[in-house]
Amino acid sequence: MTLADEARRVAAEFEYSKDDVNKAVKEFIREMDEGLTKDGTELSQIPTYVTAVPNGTEKGLYMAVDLGGTNFRVCSIQLHGNTTFSLTQSKVAIPKELMVAKTAKELFAFLAKQIEKFLQTHHAEHYQGFVRRRKTISNDEGFREEEVFNLGFTFSFPVNQIGINKGLLMRWTKGFDINDAIGKDVCALLQDEIDALHLPVRVAALVNDTVGTLMARSYTSPGKKGTLLGAIFGTGTNGAYVEKLSKVTKLAASSSAADASTTNTTGNMIVNTEWGSFDNTLKVLPNTPYDAALDADSNNPGIQMFEKRVSGMFLGEILRRALVALLNNPAVPLFADDTSAANELHSTTNVDESSPLFTRWGLDSSFLSTAHGDASLGLRMTRQALDRDLAVSAASEEDAAAVKLIAAAIGRRAARLAAVAIAAVVLNTGALDAAAAAAATGPPTTTTTTTTTTTTTSQEEEAGDEIDVGVDGSLVEFYPGFEEYIREAFREIDGIGAAGERRIRIGIAKDGSGVGAALIALVAGQVAGGEEGE
Ligand code: ADP
Ligand code: MG
Repeated sequence: MTLADEARRVAAEFEYSKDDVNKAVKEFIREMDEGLTKDGTELSQIPTYVTAVPNGTEKGLYMAVDLGGTNFRVCSIQLHGNTTFSLTQSKVAIPKELMVAKTAKELFAFLAKQIEKFLQTHHAEHYQGFVRRRKTISNDEGFREEEVFNLGFTFSFPVNQIGINKGLLMRWTKGFDINDAIGKDVCALLQDEIDALHLPVRVAALVNDTVGTLMARSYTSPGKKGTLLGAIFGTGTNGAYVEKLSKVTKLAASSSAADASTTNTTGNMIVNTEWGSFDNTLKVLPNTPYDAALDADSNNPGIQMFEKRVSGMFLGEILRRALVALLNNPAVPLFADDTSAANELHSTTNVDESSPLFTRWGLDSSFLSTAHGDASLGLRMTRQALDRDLAVSAASEEDAAAVKLIAAAIGRRAARLAAVAIAAVVLNTGALDAAAAAAATGPPTTTTTTTTTTTTTSQEEEAGDEIDVGVDGSLVEFYPGFEEYIREAFREIDGIGAAGERRIRIGIAKDGSGVGAALIALVAGQVAGGEEGE
C-alpha cells in the first residue's frame, strides 16, 4: 500500500455522510426538547434568566472578564448609547498549572490580579481615586456606589445558574480540573478575590460566552430581527438560543419560575444548551479508534463527546493519534524517506524522539488550519510546520500531502457536526418558516460597531427574513472554509436544503464576550433596581 492509499483510508474513517448528518439533527432536536422538560439530560438546556435585551440606547462604562478555555480576557466597554461602543482589552494565557490547581482560590486570585493590573493600566484615575477614598473614608458608605464598575463575568463552563450573578459550577471541561470548585458559586469566588484586593468592581452578572455572543451579535447585526443563536467554536463548543419561555417547562417546577415570568415581557428566554455533551452515549456521533482513545485518555471520559469531535482543544489531538497510528505501522511509509534520492530536500526524514507527536495534546488545532489551507508549492508551508511544530525534519511532499488529507477530513467532519447543532436549533425553533420568524421578537438590532482596540464595522446588506447566527472562537474564525463546510451540510439537511441555507446568515461576533457581558451587566443592574451606568 502506498502512503497516499493509507492516507485516503484514514481520511475515509472521518467521513460523516448526509444520512449521518440527518439522523444526528433528529437526535439533537429530541435532546433539546428533553432538556427543556427536566434536569439531568444530555443537553442541559440551562435557563439563563436573560430575557431583557438591548436596544442600542444603553449607556455607561462597564467591565467584563472572560474565562475561556485558553485565555483570560479583561476589558472595559463604553456603551455610547447610539449603538456604538469603545472597547479596551487585555488578554493573558491561563497558566496550565492553575487549570488543575488544588484550590479554586489559586485560580480566582490570579484572575483578580489581572483585573487589578488592567485597572491600573487603563483606568488609573478611576482606580487611584477609588483607593484614595477607600483609605480616607472608613464608614460603611466609604465609597459611592457609582464609583464601582459593574462587571459581567463570562464563564465558559457548565454552571447551574440560580440568579443573574449567582451560579454553581456543575463540572469542569476543556482540561480544567479543580475539584474544590465544584458546586461553588463562581461569582462569589471571584468577588472574594476582588474584595481581597480592594478593587472597585462588583460582579453583576454571570454570563455564558454563548449568551454574550448572542447578545453582542444581536446588538450589531444588520436587519430587523434579532439574532437566534450564539455559538462558540473555540477551545470548546457550545450554543445559546432564544427559546419560547412556554417551552421551558422545567422552569415551572422551580422556585424561580414566578420570578422569570413576571419580569419577562418578551415571552422568551435565552437557553444555554451546553451542547458539548450532545449524545454522550454515542447514538449518532461518529467514533473512530482515535476518538475513542482520546476520550479514554481524557480527564472526563464519557462526557463532552460532541465537543471532543468538534472543538479546537481536540482536533489536533485526533490528528496526532491518527498520525501516530500510521507511524507505528511499519508497512506505511510515513516520514520514512530513508535515502536522499527519495526526497528532493536531499536529506533523510527524521522524526525526533522528543517530537510533540509523541505527547498527548502535543499538536495544536492551528496546525490543521495550516495543513488544510496549504496551497503553497510542494506543500512547503505544511512541511515547515511539521519541522517547526512537530520536530519532523525534511518531510517529503508525499508526507505533507498525507497529513493534509487527514487533517482536512478531521476539520470537515468537525464543521459538519457543527452544522448539525446549528441546523437543529434553526429547525426546532421554527425560525425558517416566515410566520414563526416574524413573531419571534429577538433583541433589537443596530448597524455599526466601533471599538478602540479593534474597529469592527458591520457592512452587511440590510436584512430581509434571514436567520441570524452569531459565532465566536478561533476555530470558526481561522479554520479555512469552516463556514463553507457548515453550509455544505445545511444543504443536505431535510427541512433546510439549498433554499434554507441561503437564509441563514452566520456572522462573527467580534469582541462578543466583552460587549455581550457588558450588556448583560447593564440589564442585571436594572433588574436588581441598581444604578444605571452613566
Ligand atoms: P477560548 O476558547 O479560550 O475563548 P479561542 O476562541 O481563541 O479561545 O480558541 C482557542 C482554541 O482555538 C485553541 O484550542 C486553539 O488550538 C484553537 N485555534 C487557535 N488558532 C487556530 C487556528 N488558526 N485554526 C484552528 N484552531 C485554532
Ligand atoms: Mg472564547
